[in-house]
Amino acid sequence: MEGLTSSEIAGFVVGALLLGATIAAPKVDGFIASSQRRSLGMCKRCGDLRIVACSQCKGTGSARSGGMLSLGVLDDLYESLGAEAKTENLVPCTKCSSRGRLMCPECSKVA
Ligand SMILES: [Zn+2]
Ligand SMILES: [Zn+2]
Repeated sequence: MEGLTSSEIAGFVVGALLLGATIAAPKVDGFIASSQRRSLGMCKRCGDLRIVACSQCKGTGSARSGGMLSLGVLDDLYESLGAEAKTENLVPCTKCSSRGRLMCPECSKVA
């Protein structure tokens, strides 16, 4: 490899490490938060809120009628085109009755 000095290589390595740390940070945060909650006797799932965001609609209360059949790539395409069809396919989420949140499964288990 010509034209690459050792300091340039070092800079690249540091950059890659920083990038990796940035990507990993939210996951580490989440891990620490859940272990803290556990040590405090709080629910690790909801932090004693007793509600969690609906996994089916991601807390929005509505789901696409296409459901699992819709392709994420296609959605991205619609998004980039700015198509208004985006909201047309939305139906109330059946899992949470369009409330966007559910009883925490961990807490309701204990109760
Ligand atoms: Zn839902
Ligand atoms: Zn809970």
